[in-house]
Amino acid sequence: MKLSQLGEFGFIERLRRRTEARGDALGIGDDCAATRLPAGEKLLTTTDMLIEGVHFRRDWTDMRTLGRKCVAVNVSDIAAMGGTPRHLFFALGAPGDMTVEEIDALAEGVLEAADHYGAELLGGDTCRSGNGLVLCITAQGSVPETEMVKRSGAESGDIVCVSGCLGDSALALRQLLAGELPERQLADRHHDPKARTSLGRQLAQKKLATAMIDISDGLLADLGHIMKGSGSGARIERDSLPMSAPFRDALKREPDLIDLALGGGEDYELLFCVAPGRVDEVLSLGRQLGLAVTPVGEMVEGETLSVVDATGKEYAVKRAGFNHFARQADRD
Ligand code: ADP
Ligand code: MG
Repeated sequence: MKLSQLGEFGFIERLRRRTEARGDALGIGDDCAATRLPAGEKLLTTTDMLIEGVHFRRDWTDMRTLGRKCVAVNVSDIAAMGGTPRHLFFALGAPGDMTVEEIDALAEGVLEAADHYGAELLGGDTCRSGNGLVLCITAQGSVPETEMVKRSGAESGDIVCVSGCLGDSALALRQLLAGELPERQLADRHHDPKARTSLGRQLAQKKLATAMIDISDGLLADLGHIMKGSGSGARIERDSLPMSAPFRDALKREPDLIDLALGGGEDYELLFCVAPGRVDEVLSLGRQLGLAVTPVGEMVEGETLSVVDATGKEYAVKRAGFNHFARQADRD
């Protein structure tokens, strides 16, 4: 059945039946959702869109995975503030030629990720799109007022750390664009990223991170946001970047790929700064959570960002992070 036959209200009714709100929140079915926050916590709200042809291609991913991704990329922002994800809103522009099965799979992915992160889907909007599939999730979370981690708290001397591995998603995308099929581990990191909610929350609760951001635009671009927010410079050690086994294999064949670990986007790892005396605590937290945490450099006086190789020599990066409105020529 085509979506156009089920219609907007048929789809919403199916969603409503699958999301009978838990707790005391008022969810899908009224004019607004109504929610309450735990006492003493700040409300965190973030929105990210995924647009067909810009962020994804329907022939490269399945709908269920795409549904999970659009939740994960939003929840990742909540994690980067040290928050707990709580509510989701799902705005959808769907072309009339999509089938009900596809839309159901998409919604299933959204609901699956909502469950995974402990958030409730409480509303959204559904429209027909004249030009491709448009997905927009708004995620809300909360964080105790005294624990919120912003981009602005880093000081020179702080150690810069990242979770997980860098560059896998960008490498998968590069291979897809070249008409190659990325191996499973790389493809999953691109199509099905996971938000680092436990790490973000614990770093905040233990007051281990002085500044934090999630890596969506690439390590260097996102570190640039921390530098700007904190009024600090930074130095990154190129040879300390955490990389997966398939990324390392590819790097052996093509050394320039190091620039994807430095500047490629959509890692959705956490990038954070830690006072030097507390790095051991952070490393043991990572071990406890089964998630690699790697020191990759430090914050320095001034406002410049440098990348150095193992001998301390400055390394010139060839490719910067992704910027939607950069001219195509600037990106290549
Ligand atoms: P209104 O016209 O008052 O905006 P709608 O008909 O758009 O109401 O939506 C009816 C209910 O369904 C609302 O609670 C809205 O939040 C919810 N809703 C609509 N589309 C979606 C969606 N894609 N995901 C989740 N909830 C949705
Ligand atoms: Mg509406």
